[in-house]
Amino acid sequence: MTEVCQVCESPRASPFVEQPPYRWARCDDCGFAWLSPMPGMDEAAGVRDAAAGRGYIDGYMGKLDSKMRRSRRRVRTLKRLMPGPRLLDVGSNIGCLVAAGAEQGLDATGVEINPVLVREARNRYPAGLFMAGAFEEADLPAGTFHGVYCSEVIEHVVDANLFLEAIVRAMASRAALYLTTPALREYTKGGDPARWRDFGAPDHKLYFSPGNIRRMLAKHGFQAIRLRFNFGRGIKLLARRARPRR
Ligand SMILES: [Zn+2]
Repeated sequence: MTEVCQVCESPRASPFVEQPPYRWARCDDCGFAWLSPMPGMDEAAGVRDAAAGRGYIDGYMGKLDSKMRRSRRRVRTLKRLMPGPRLLDVGSNIGCLVAAGAEQGLDATGVEINPVLVREARNRYPAGLFMAGAFEEADLPAGTFHGVYCSEVIEHVVDANLFLEAIVRAMASRAALYLTTPALREYTKGGDPARWRDFGAPDHKLYFSPGNIRRMLAKHGFQAIRLRFNFGRGIKLLARRARPRR
């Protein structure tokens, strides 16, 4: 295998899971897992598809109240760590978190790759600012946001380093990050690979563990990385952008 690990840059990886026609590899050194071969950015743009957006919305409507409650709770948690009012939601879906941020007096912006979801968010929450497009390509002012929320998004990206660089670029000094992503161990519970959960390719492209997500964030200049208890469901963490070096 010629790909190097996105987390630790080790060239040593082993075939991991077959999910025909897809294959997953895992780093021998840090345990990070990814789709191998990894699709290109253009190939991966299938999530912009309108039907996918519609499916998300239908799935969301039934649990809108609980989504809204969770968004309010998470905004309260993140807000305590934010050194200012500007909040960015990366992967803003139908806009619940941006709406919760606005309710709590924050100046909230959402970026969402799926245009159907952006339209829905704008209709629902006309006061929110929603931008359409890939976050890595979004024209966001650098060094601006005091808090970034990114829930169940990073596992969909082709290049987690580019993605985190874009997050860091958007952040103000000492800004806070609230990030959630599935943990690899949720998929591999029990010893028998034949009974492991569907790995979710090609929608999901990479999986972290609590250990290697820490390492990844530290590499991108985050500190005070605190993993929160998540009822065994996945990784949920808060971190803070380090002060820029002089
Ligand atoms: Zn690695």
